[in-house]
Amino acid sequence: MRGARIEVTGIVQGVGFRPFVYRLAKKTGITGYVKNMGNSVEILAVGGGEEINDFLAGLERDAPPLARIDNVSVQPTDEKDLQAFKIVESSSAGGSGSVLPPDVCICETCLAEINDPSNPRYGYPFTVCVDCGARYTIIETVPYDRVNTSMTDFPMCSECKREYEDPVDRRFHAEPTCCPACGPSYHLYYGSKLVDVINPVEAAVGKLDEGRIVAVMGVGGTHLASALDDTVVQRLRRRFNRPEKPFAIMVRGLEAASKFASLSEIEKRLLTSLRRPIVAVQKKSLAPELVAPGLDNIGIMLPYTALHHLMFNYTDADGFVMTSANLPGEHMFTEAEKVVASGFSDYCLVHNRRILNRVDDSVLRVVGGRPAFIRRSRGYVPEPIQLEKESMEVVLGLEIG
Ligand SMILES: [Zn+2]
Ligand SMILES: [Zn+2]
Repeated sequence: MRGARIEVTGIVQGVGFRPFVYRLAKKTGITGYVKNMGNSVEILAVGGGEEINDFLAGLERDAPPLARIDNVSVQPTDEKDLQAFKIVESSSAGGSGSVLPPDVCICETCLAEINDPSNPRYGYPFTVCVDCGARYTIIETVPYDRVNTSMTDFPMCSECKREYEDPVDRRFHAEPTCCPACGPSYHLYYGSKLVDVINPVEAAVGKLDEGRIVAVMGVGGTHLASALDDTVVQRLRRRFNRPEKPFAIMVRGLEAASKFASLSEIEKRLLTSLRRPIVAVQKKSLAPELVAPGLDNIGIMLPYTALHHLMFNYTDADGFVMTSANLPGEHMFTEAEKVVASGFSDYCLVHNRRILNRVDDSVLRVVGGRPAFIRRSRGYVPEPIQLEKESMEVVLGLEIG
């Protein structure tokens, strides 16, 4: 076989799959191309039989962590040797039925960048790369290219473009990539007035530490945040008209989580997973009573975006209340104007990137040693649910607000 036409289906868009295929082709001496087809990736691989076998073996074995390969079909072809391996323009053919990637937490490399004063992305809340960050929440349509996301509102600066076009860079074809020079930004409002500060995130955290209620717009919606203090939480409850609803808290790490709850190993794994759900866990007496009044469990999550990590950089607090901001019976706010107009909070920390698909925090609880969904959303949606048996009966429920 001199060549193979390969079709890969599964979660292969927005997870660094094409750059991975490019690097694999270089490594195994393959020429040809890789192309995004909307609901699959098409690869033409030209080379000797051994090279093609190595290439095919690596395709499944070394796929990026966020990719999920459902099927690989291989058709032999008699293509002539090509000069190089290329990533070619996407085709919109076969765009329906695509599996889009969910939004996952910031990776360790990006986290190191936002904490490094010498890095251009130091302190930048939208830092992302091909292995991490926003996906589904910013996608308008397939194929997953920047032009089909809300990042199309932010043309790349020359340095971001250089990274995006460099096959050995980890931001090669990272569609949401941006930097402080070219990307979205946060703004702080007091009531409906814009607050003139150099660092709105730091200023917002200062207000939280003072006991103010702050609406925090994030990747797929908006949280109402407050300090972990019963007096402040009581104010939040009155203002938000939620006398008893259990509020979730975000804590800076597992050590802080252990102050408020008893955690099993599986709960720790869920809390620190790429998907970063809220996990309902056994409450300890140190947890403020009014966060989850009358309950013996509490919903805890760890920081998942660059913004959240930056928030904890600006405070000594172990955590904050972070509850979804929505009107009763309605969806969580996804538009900055509505967040500001809602009047739920003293301050609003909002950004100017359009949220195209709203996602609430996922909520899990470990039952009988296995995770069970209370709400399946951020980090999991829109991944399909794979059922174990074809004849299984499935009951679906709808939750609003
Ligand atoms: Zn990253
Ligand atoms: Zn830039």
